[in-house]
Amino acid sequence: LFITFEGGDGSGKSTQASLLAEWLTEQGRTVVRTREPGGTDVGLEVRNLVLHHRGDIDPRAEALLYAADRAHHVATLVRPALERGEVVIQDRYFDSSVAYQGAGRVLNATEVRDLSLWATDSLLPDVTVLLDLDETVARTRLDAADKPFDRLENEKAEFHARVRAGFLALAAAEPQRFVVLDAALPIEELASAIRTRVQQELS
Ligand code: C5P
Repeated sequence: LFITFEGGDGSGKSTQASLLAEWLTEQGRTVVRTREPGGTDVGLEVRNLVLHHRGDIDPRAEALLYAADRAHHVATLVRPALERGEVVIQDRYFDSSVAYQGAGRVLNATEVRDLSLWATDSLLPDVTVLLDLDETVARTRLDAADKPFDRLENEKAEFHARVRAGFLALAAAEPQRFVVLDAALPIEELASAIRTRVQQELS
């Protein structure tokens, strides 16, 4: 079972992914918790490059770097785990590229998606949880937690609005794969809704 978490920075993806991993582990499942960018040693170098490069990276180059991280991650970690029958719970996958590099950086969404499908030999998640949150709320949250803003720091509000709309459009196009939740809800309420959806998938 391949479960991905998507949403803007500060939407609570990591918190919810960890809670779900804990719950599945308690049920006796073997869970692999991973993330993009940066789920492998190669990925960490890509993460460092895309997030900490001084100055702008050309949008197509950036899309290719994320796709390269994804290709290596899927080939060496995600697909082998799925083939062993394990559950993979991942922060961000190709929907993030369609939203950030496509909608955010204004590249063609279909081309960005196709690039990821090629990179991953068309590995699709079984369930994708989209934690939808307004950027200003996210900013306040990250501030309170004293966490770095990453993109939030460098990009304008319009960028985040495009990314959010990009995610929602993806979810609307594939309602059977996506669970869309209001990330402003209490943590336990969100966790429970996610467990319900994953339980359906397991039974
Ligand atoms: O979710 P995480 O904090 O690991 O993401 C790191 C940063 O990379 C975030 O600021 C996110 O906006 C950005 N990102 C991106 N395009 C992707 C994946 C992540 O711009 N495909």
